Amino acid sequence: MGDTAPDLIRAVIGFRQWRLREAELWSLHAEDRWDKGVLTARCLGEHHDGPAPDKGCTCGFYAWYAPPPRMASAATSELVAGAVALWGRLELHPHGMRAERAMVVALALPLSRGRKRRRVVAAAQALEVPAVPARRLRKVALEHGDVVPKRMRPIDTTPNKRAAPGPPDPARLYAVADGYPSRRR
Ligand SMILES: [Zn+2]
Repeated sequence: MGDTAPDLIRAVIGFRQWRLREAELWSLHAEDRWDKGVLTARCLGEHHDGPAPDKGCTCGFYAWYAPPPRMASAATSELVAGAVALWGRLELHPHGMRAERAMVVALALPLSRGRKRRRVVAAAQALEVPAVPARRLRKVALEHGDVVPKRMRPIDTTPNKRAAPGPPDPARLYAVADGYPSRRR
């Protein structure tokens, strides 16, 4: 690769949790509903109106590099885990990232049967993505992009290994992935 090659040439995959409201996915910490297809984040910060994620801000779509522990979503009837493809501007953190563009690509079925499972299946149908056993989530996600290579991830200097990618600091780096395959719209 030459000096001008982008750091990443395909979409990358990430993992998240959402709150289920009937068959809809909502962000845990914001009033954002995740709809079918490509979502694009805009920075609407006080001093900025432009593409997200913006340095010094909290905008963009958040995702972990690895699936959340399986039991994390089993704890309540409304949490669901899933995989997303991310591309556009990315800000990489030690355990996760913020991205400009995101698309849900798969949801994890709960361990339990019953109502929650039916709601996850309904949500996946509305998003036109598969609902798969949690152990298969990573494999299914890899059909849509690559994991962010470890060498690109900033070193974790905090003791809390699962802290959310919080307020940015200048040490974090940007990369661009603009090659989402056109298999889906
Ligand atoms: Zn912002």
